[in-house]
Amino acid sequence: MSALPPALPLPPSMRVFQRGWLSANNILFIGDDATALIDSGYAIHAAQTVALVEAALNGRPLDLLANTHLHSDHCGGNAALQAHYPHCVTAIPVGEARAVAAWDQDALSYRATGQQCARFTFQRTIAPGDVMTLGDLSWQALGAPGHDPRSLVFYCAHQGILLSADALWENGFGVIFPELEGESGFTEAADTLDMIARLDLRLVIPGHGAPFTDVAGALARARSRLDYLRADPRRNADNAVKVMLKFLLLERRHITMAEVVALFETNQLMAGARRRFLGGEALQAAERTAAALVRAGAARREGDLLLNHD
Ligand SMILES: [Zn+2]
Repeated sequence: MSALPPALPLPPSMRVFQRGWLSANNILFIGDDATALIDSGYAIHAAQTVALVEAALNGRPLDLLANTHLHSDHCGGNAALQAHYPHCVTAIPVGEARAVAAWDQDALSYRATGQQCARFTFQRTIAPGDVMTLGDLSWQALGAPGHDPRSLVFYCAHQGILLSADALWENGFGVIFPELEGESGFTEAADTLDMIARLDLRLVIPGHGAPFTDVAGALARARSRLDYLRADPRRNADNAVKVMLKFLLLERRHITMAEVVALFETNQLMAGARRRFLGGEALQAAERTAAALVRAGAARREGDLLLNHD
């Protein structure tokens, strides 16, 4: 697939801040003329995000902040960066403009997931096909629906680099959220993987995890995972509720089982996944999901308390 030599270092104008699962990775561009940041992490890490950017910019302002998509772990630092860099232009995927302008927390998924995101504004939108200069390099925005219907990824043909957001990780991809609400997502995710396979890539910088060069291997793993989920949509729902509960555990460190039960009764996505796909009462879903996280080593149980475990 790749005609370019593997494992070339990053272009000198590019820095990757590899974060964790609560905060997405941030990619900073320091060009001769302008600076830019792609994605800003989760709200509770916002001060750390600003500090990372400020230290790397060494006195220069941040000129552009762009988001691949508006899940809370990708844009939770937007408000803090806007406060710190008042002249920074914020650019969001075009499909989200109305929801952000009105700060419609239902359309923006924050209410549905129980996640938090400080309100931010935007000055520009980015549509699939748009070309931007980041770090003196030309990057094209490409539509990447599946995980999120309005997500973009950014491709630099000259360098063979893709900022893949949650459309492709080294091992998998983000939850296929639209399917949880009865909308199409598997087909779009498969098409997005096909689109990525047609790019000439030597390096992928994902939204979570380390940058990787074995793009063909990652695509094969992602396709196999997608086939597995698609064969029985309960698998996607089961995975989604585990991921959402783990996210809340990462944020809060511990959560009572009564709260987990309440999530399966009232949280739009978790209760919806239970009713639509998983079946059973909220109590059963809570116990089953908590037990699955404990088995996976992602949580510990102490009586009625579920604790984060890394
Ligand atoms: Zn996402």
